[in-house]
Amino acid sequence: MSNKPAHKTRGLLLMVVAPSGVGKTSLTRRLVADHNDLHLSISATTRDPRPGEHDGRDYHFVSQEQFALMKLKDEFLESAEVYGNHYGSPRGPIMEALERGESVLFDIDFQGAMKVHKQAGADSVLVYILPPSLAEMSRRLHARSQDSEAVIHQRLARAKDEVAAWEQFDYVILNDDFDRAYSDLAHIYHAERQKRARNPWIGDLVQDLLKEEI
Ligand code: 5GP
Repeated sequence: MSNKPAHKTRGLLLMVVAPSGVGKTSLTRRLVADHNDLHLSISATTRDPRPGEHDGRDYHFVSQEQFALMKLKDEFLESAEVYGNHYGSPRGPIMEALERGESVLFDIDFQGAMKVHKQAGADSVLVYILPPSLAEMSRRLHARSQDSEAVIHQRLARAKDEVAAWEQFDYVILNDDFDRAYSDLAHIYHAERQKRARNPWIGDLVQDLLKEEI
């Protein structure tokens, strides 16, 4: 156990990207629930809520006009159009968490993750969740019956393009077993928090150690 004060650790932006139907939501929600120094970035979106989704918990559901205004006022760290709907990551809560030395998890698409990475550099960590196969992904998408056949086809085609870009990610997790994939994700978060560059307080500690008489 370390006795370092939590506030001295530099927060990180953890971006978890996966094609739909790969279990990303379950993995990311559990990671946030298990770590009180990690906050989910709640995106704004112009799409309609799905059954069971709540405004302010899953997304901030906004009108096209509200979204356009937020964008105009530069309130998004990044925004993108995905399958005809607009999505954006509100800048305010992200910056507040980082200032407290806490971290933010982004459940965003590939293009959004790359945009954040461009701005945040080493403060961002990119994780990609792989489905065991496209056939399994297709099965899961059909089973949840949220999308039309055309949208499912679009999602599968997009998944293929994204998977081909796997080398742009810092970590790739295979979600063929939820508990193992979760354990991999949690270990990545823990190790990233421990990185020397995120813990500048270690420098002072080392200086004190070196001053000790032996
Ligand atoms: P869904 O409509 O299924 O909830 O999300 C569609 C896609 O948009 C998913 O890949 C999701 O991760 C992505 N997404 C959600 N919020 C944001 C955001 O704020 N920015 C970007 N770039 N993508 C987002």
